[in-house]
Amino acid sequence: MRRVSVFGATGSIGVNTLDLIGRAPQAYRVVALTGGRNIALLAHQARSLRAEVAVTAHEDCLAELRAALQGSGVEAAAGAKALIEAAHRPADWVMSAIVGAAGLAPGFAALRHGSTLALANKESLVAAGALLLAEAKAHGARILPVDSEHSAVFQALAGERIEEVERVIITASGGAFRDWPLERLQAATVAEASTHPNWAMGQRITIDSASMFNKALELIETREYFGIAPEKIDTVVHPESLVHALVGFRDGALMAHLGAPDMRHAIGYALHWPERADLPVARLDLAQIGQLSFRAPDPERFPALRLAREVMAIGGTAGAAFNAAKEVALDGFIAGRIGFMDMARLVESVLSDMSSRQGLGNAARSLDNVMATDAEARALGRERISTGRI
Ligand code: NDP
Repeated sequence: MRRVSVFGATGSIGVNTLDLIGRAPQAYRVVALTGGRNIALLAHQARSLRAEVAVTAHEDCLAELRAALQGSGVEAAAGAKALIEAAHRPADWVMSAIVGAAGLAPGFAALRHGSTLALANKESLVAAGALLLAEAKAHGARILPVDSEHSAVFQALAGERIEEVERVIITASGGAFRDWPLERLQAATVAEASTHPNWAMGQRITIDSASMFNKALELIETREYFGIAPEKIDTVVHPESLVHALVGFRDGALMAHLGAPDMRHAIGYALHWPERADLPVARLDLAQIGQLSFRAPDPERFPALRLAREVMAIGGTAGAAFNAAKEVALDGFIAGRIGFMDMARLVESVLSDMSSRQGLGNAARSLDNVMATDAEARALGRERISTGRI
């Protein structure tokens, strides 16, 4: 029986992960499940999969969790420390699907036990990619990508040598606003930004798709995870979301990965790797699909892509500043304090402020530096929102 833990179990990735695990309960022993405020769902998941422990990130939710788990034999715990303690419980396979930088510490803890870390939490790689990979190496652990684009690249690279890769292209749906006139974007509402044409995902990543901050994070994630030079990484808008990524080799061959827009494919691939298993995902009928289309992203509409290139050029802890500023900007947009296009303006101003004052590119990458940069970028971003200096 494989011991598995799921961090962010109550979210979109977590629910899809447990859907796969729940189809073969005899094959798994569920160690830890974690969530945030959705206590009813967390307790239901923990009871039905007989988890050892259920953890909510919020201490004020502990009493509710305890009550919901009464008589089940599942332990209840709460808070940031409890999340890390749960990650220290030995498991063979751990899903990292907390949203945001909050996923960083549990991921590190799981790697220290040599667990295989299925990484949906792209923010970890953006903020601390080199450190995370070094931690995995030091403990004989493995990180498997779960982002659909990165799972696609990983699959296209199977049996290939990274030195022979000429380019990597990750596709972008273009999000909710890909066909909106540029002038309308600043006034876009949270509800409008929270719908996605193809994928069903959590609200934050859906809004990040509309602004292409999600794709910006993914460009950096590609650089960090595969060690590919930024100039070899590109993105293309592909409205159908059926081709997830393409890898071009030195002989001109371009290997594309296609699949239905269903995260259970990438999750299932990471769950069963290095084997392939039957997965409950739709099979593509190419004759019925008929056509696939691609176009270059509009740099004016999607300034986040340019910012990602700047972050990769700066290096050091710039990724941590970028991710933190982006999270603050997203909070500000969701709270109605800044407009849609202000998110990129805010991130750009925080980045430029921090790189001129602190030499982000020269900062040694240690976890302490990453956390300090993260905190500084958040403080700066919040201050700019509250003073209106965006
Ligand atoms: P959701 O918002 O749906 O879920 C996030 C999960 O994290 C929930 O379990 C939530 O708990 C929990 N959570 C929220 N805040 C905190 C916190 N501060 N501390 C601990 N736990 C917290 O997100 P998604 O499932 O969409 O995304 C998860 C991660 O996977 C993100 O990094 C995202 O970028 C990445 N990803 C997602 C994809 C998708 O298809 N959804 C595709 C590729 C990558 P609760 O809901 O109970 O409050």
